[in-house]
Amino acid sequence: MNHLIVVSNRLPFALDSTGEDLWTVTPAVGGLVSAIEPVLRERGGTWIGWPGIAGEIPEEPFAEARRNAGYKIVPVALSETERDEFYYGYSNEVIWPLFHDLQNFCNFEPAYWQAYKEVNNRYADAIVRCAHPDDFIWVHDYHLMYVAETLRERGVSRDLSRLTFFLHIPFPPYDIFSKLPQQQRLLHALLQFDLLGFQTRRDVRNFMQCVRRVMLDAKVVPRRGLQLIRFEKREIRVGHFPIGIDFNSFENGARSDAVEQRAQRLRVTFPACQSILGSDRLDYSKGIPERLRAFRTALELHSELRGRAVLIQIVVPSRVEIPRYHEFKNRIDRLVGDINGRFSTSTWLPVQYHFRSLDRDDLLAHYRGCDIAFVTPLKDGMNLVAKEYCASRIEEDGVLILSQFAGAAEQLKPDALLVNPYDIEQMADAILKAFRMSEAERKARMKRMRRVVRDENVFSWVDSFLKAGSNVGSRPQRVSKRRRATFAR
Ligand code: UDP
Repeated sequence: MNHLIVVSNRLPFALDSTGEDLWTVTPAVGGLVSAIEPVLRERGGTWIGWPGIAGEIPEEPFAEARRNAGYKIVPVALSETERDEFYYGYSNEVIWPLFHDLQNFCNFEPAYWQAYKEVNNRYADAIVRCAHPDDFIWVHDYHLMYVAETLRERGVSRDLSRLTFFLHIPFPPYDIFSKLPQQQRLLHALLQFDLLGFQTRRDVRNFMQCVRRVMLDAKVVPRRGLQLIRFEKREIRVGHFPIGIDFNSFENGARSDAVEQRAQRLRVTFPACQSILGSDRLDYSKGIPERLRAFRTALELHSELRGRAVLIQIVVPSRVEIPRYHEFKNRIDRLVGDINGRFSTSTWLPVQYHFRSLDRDDLLAHYRGCDIAFVTPLKDGMNLVAKEYCASRIEEDGVLILSQFAGAAEQLKPDALLVNPYDIEQMADAILKAFRMSEAERKARMKRMRRVVRDENVFSWVDSFLKAGSNVGSRPQRVSKRRRATFAR
């Protein structure tokens, strides 16, 4: 197997300054890291990314974090301006909202695009410094869509055999994508990869539609399985690869005594109540206010829920430096206050609200201990929480209410209760339906969902992407001595 080079915006750990010359190293959490880390640890490889601090990278703490990784780590440094314009700017004020169909949240500031290209260039520099012609290069996510373009501009990509890309967030339909001022340049850049992976069939369809409408020189060849695009004398494959989770680690974790005890404590805190879990990063794409409104409507309309249902809403702080996120948190705080103010009694508080992240055992205890998971993003690439909930339901019970706009809905839709997160009344009805669902129906549905999550796990995701990627791209031609010098490991 070829040497694997993973390129993502962030490294699998973040450095943080806690005072003068005092540094902490925090392992990153989330789907990408839990998927890729075990693969790199097992077979070796290189991870290129940003350690999460603007300015110079402190030598000693970084060297220590790097030593502990077990594979090669190559840092990319970002200045404060680059962090602001590339990361907060183009990535998170343009691409993130637009690709989640929320164009009203976009700030199409022209300067951001320049910063985006420059920083992508920097990542390309790092690839050139450490790649060899036969390496498998796997670029991740919406921050780095321009990397292959800059590699081709320099001519070095001729010698790279496999330049592949996976988009973790959704790809929007043409009517939304066409709002992007750089629509053509971005599609051109994406078509410089040899393999493009998306989360769902819908994302692939949207992408192909955009290519047909915007890139008139591209020829889309209809095919079964991986789609094919011919563009500028090259062939690009496009497919959907729904990311999974490490099922066994969630299942085994949920079985542990520590988790069982915490889950039990949670259950006795709310006697005679069914608990409904919402767990999200603080983000406007997650549909948290809509969910709270749906719970409020359910309490208004269905008196049988009063005193017998609690919503445990965990909001993990994220991007709080951005004013829009701060305002968004205030909106959530107000809604929680309104519901609790209106409905609580001396023995029942309808919304239990935590604004913090949970440690792993606590998160698993919530998955195990809550009867219903209420996962209603306005749009989401996949949504791992939905899958983690299923994997942690070791008694094979529990109900999943899931947004039809989460990528996970494509795999779980027959058995999750699908809802439109913009339809407050439908979500309120779904709460009642979940609340009343019989034990037998819960078990039948959960059993099937668990089978899907178990079979289509994170390891099969990595395998299927690497397998698809190993059959794409032109084999490297004989590399001249001069060119070989450009690739130094
Ligand atoms: N998560 C966490 N701590 C928490 C709550 C959630 O680490 O207190 C994790 C959760 O296990 C999941 C991830 O955060 O793996 C959220 O992933 P998801 O795909 O649902 O959404 P994202 O935040 O990536 O948009």
